[in-house]
Amino acid sequence: MSALILRKARVLVTMDDTRREIADCDLRIEGGVITAIGPDLALDGAETLDVSGCVVTPGLVNTHHHLYQTLTRTVPAAQDALLFGWLQTLYPIWARMTPEDMRVSAEVGLAELALSGCSLSSDHLYLYPNGVRLEDTIEAAAAIGLRFHPTRGAMSIGESDGGLPPDSLVEDEAAILDDAIRVIDAFHDPTPGAMVRVGVAPCSPFSVSRGLMRDAALLARDKGVMLHTHLAENDEDIAYSEAQFGCRPGQYAEELGWTGEDVWHAHCVKLDESEIDLFARSRTGVAHCPCSNCRLGSGIAPVRAMRDAGVHVALGVDGSASNDGNGMIAEARMALLLQRVQNGADAMSVREMLEIATRGGAQVLGRDDLGQLAVGMRADIAVWDVSGLEAAGAWDPVAALLLSGPSQVRDLFVEGRPVVRESRLVRRDAAALIAEQSRCLARLMA
Ligand SMILES: [Zn+2]
Repeated sequence: MSALILRKARVLVTMDDTRREIADCDLRIEGGVITAIGPDLALDGAETLDVSGCVVTPGLVNTHHHLYQTLTRTVPAAQDALLFGWLQTLYPIWARMTPEDMRVSAEVGLAELALSGCSLSSDHLYLYPNGVRLEDTIEAAAAIGLRFHPTRGAMSIGESDGGLPPDSLVEDEAAILDDAIRVIDAFHDPTPGAMVRVGVAPCSPFSVSRGLMRDAALLARDKGVMLHTHLAENDEDIAYSEAQFGCRPGQYAEELGWTGEDVWHAHCVKLDESEIDLFARSRTGVAHCPCSNCRLGSGIAPVRAMRDAGVHVALGVDGSASNDGNGMIAEARMALLLQRVQNGADAMSVREMLEIATRGGAQVLGRDDLGQLAVGMRADIAVWDVSGLEAAGAWDPVAALLLSGPSQVRDLFVEGRPVVRESRLVRRDAAALIAEQSRCLARLMA
């Protein structure tokens, strides 16, 4: 791959260790890595791309999602329900999904994520009806060009055992662990620059057994992969934990080995002070999903308190059926605004939220090779054109990214390769993808 120089960024937001913002700056990419940063770099035969008029940031990192839900957005009966009722409405529809539905749903979600500046997404796939496999989503990520951290999710406690999901959507626990081993061995890449890393992710404490939670943690540590689940999402979730397990979710997680820097939990809206302290001490990560929490009326996660205590917090758009969008920069804006609703206008700055959305996400996903624009880091880069209408009149082009716009990238690079150019997907024809999802949707709605 020949070298590429991004020329004359209006501002390069590095998110490096000193959080430098450099005006009128070039950035050189070679072999998927950032090899130089500074004004007026020597060309040395490199290709160039003019990024004057643009703010250049690290690619945004999405740490929680259920890409399969993209084909079940705005389902009428689920529009106004709380979490448990919302799940019970959607389970029967999800039970009809095929491998093709999974792939197409994931591609649509990832395409939208890419256009909104996301270069690395995780995914939590916890149901496998009709021959669905984790690789259906891995193929989707490769087709769009995003870096991908899929997790082998699972549900094992069906309705007949007092769980929430229908029996048809739960799996045998031994089979779950076997398939987790299969996908880790087949797809997990621990090396720097990896495009795919696999995690282990039972769906939630209310859909799997205590034994599976413990075995999943043992397996993940044996394989050197990360652990992920939903935790303390809303009041119903806390009540379930107290009634079924006789303790709060944080304590349940700790008892079963679900704390540590190789673990990240989605939501954590209802963590109390002692749980925040536990997560800080144990370096347990949190995927904050503000739009989903608003959509389901779950509450506002204590992000300010978590950050002040030292908890590693990142952002997630969550499943598209509870958002219902896949817009990463919009998620960061929502997170910023909600912390101000909760704690006051000076509680969270744009720069801090951009850090959570980029460097913070990389940290939570265990990626010390990306999340900042610095020499030696992987070239995952978002280019935001701030010369258009959305940012017109903005005095601070970096703050414009969250306070006014743009809401889409002009260009996105992953591992130095273009994924979005001039606000269009490079590898996938968007019109063809929309046609494919129409066919899947017609079948699902029939
Ligand atoms: Zn979720």
